Amino acid sequence: MTLIYVPKYYNIKELVSPVVYNKYGNSAWMFFQGDPEYLMDLDFLREEWGSGIYLNTWAFPGVKPYRDEAAYRCNVDDIVRKKRGPYCSGHTMCKAFDPMPANGQYEKFWHFIWALITNGKFKRFNRIEHHKHTVAKGYVHIDSFSPSGKPEVFTIK
Ligand SMILES: [Zn+2]
Repeated sequence: MTLIYVPKYYNIKELVSPVVYNKYGNSAWMFFQGDPEYLMDLDFLREEWGSGIYLNTWAFPGVKPYRDEAAYRCNVDDIVRKKRGPYCSGHTMCKAFDPMPANGQYEKFWHFIWALITNGKFKRFNRIEHHKHTVAKGYVHIDSFSPSGKPEVFTIK
């Protein structure tokens, strides 16, 4: 498979869960190639931040916190499997990601990303989940689902 874009800073295990990787292996890259600008945005974020960023950590023994649904989520991944109503998260479409700063500075990281969004620096990311609901839980959620296309902070109701 010839990939349109291979990220510089993330491997496929960071982008999919163990069940997806075990079934598809490196072919799982195909899920992200339909719109590689998300991968470009993730690389751009890493470059700008200038310090380590984790998505899924399941393939990195000893790295905490353990995460296996921080990027793409398939139908049998826990968060999705437990849903009883419609679940149309960007995580099911390779359009939402929960990056974590390796240095643990979540609050600073959240505001850093929000500044990039408001300054129009990303190709795709235009929305971030409110830090009150994410930072304390050890993640930051970003996606491209702003209804107006303008920078947006949102809260899950
Ligand atoms: Zn998320």
